[in-house]
Amino acid sequence: RKDMRKTNWMNGLLLVFAIGLTSCYAQNKNEMKDVKVKKTEAEWREVLTPNQYYVLRESGTERPHTGEYDLHFEEGVYSCAGCGSELFKSDDKFDAHCGWPSFDKAIENDAVVEIKDNSHGMVRTEIRCANCGGHLGHVFNDGPTDTGMRYCINSASLGFEGEEEADAKAKE
Ligand code: FE
Repeated sequence: RKDMRKTNWMNGLLLVFAIGLTSCYAQNKNEMKDVKVKKTEAEWREVLTPNQYYVLRESGTERPHTGEYDLHFEEGVYSCAGCGSELFKSDDKFDAHCGWPSFDKAIENDAVVEIKDNSHGMVRTEIRCANCGGHLGHVFNDGPTDTGMRYCINSASLGFEGEEEADAKAKE
């Protein structure tokens, strides 16, 4: 009977271990649990352009200096191209001369999620939309402003609403 108890205990340990491994694997496979907006990959393909899908759902990176918002400095709010969640303000945007839109902070701390990223032989911190889990870019601690942070974000993962547009909408 003692042996039996030992076996049960070991089975329990194995189970915990297996769950741990599975959750690690799920993260590596670009899945974020606890997101409000959930779609199947087929549904994402329907609502996103191929380039948006490549960046948001496959953690792709657009070529530098090619994105719509790299050198875009109008006043307004940048949102997630996947789910519309507001992510960054134009006030926090700066030109990092790196070829991607750069911000020194997110609009709210919990608008984005940080994930360790060891891909491509580098140790980086990946940034994702907290609402839909879409990949946005990376954050580095070499920013030139008082926050010290540089959120390097793909244009393809962003939408933009200018202040004038927002005002007009509010008056409707
Ligand atoms: Fe999103």
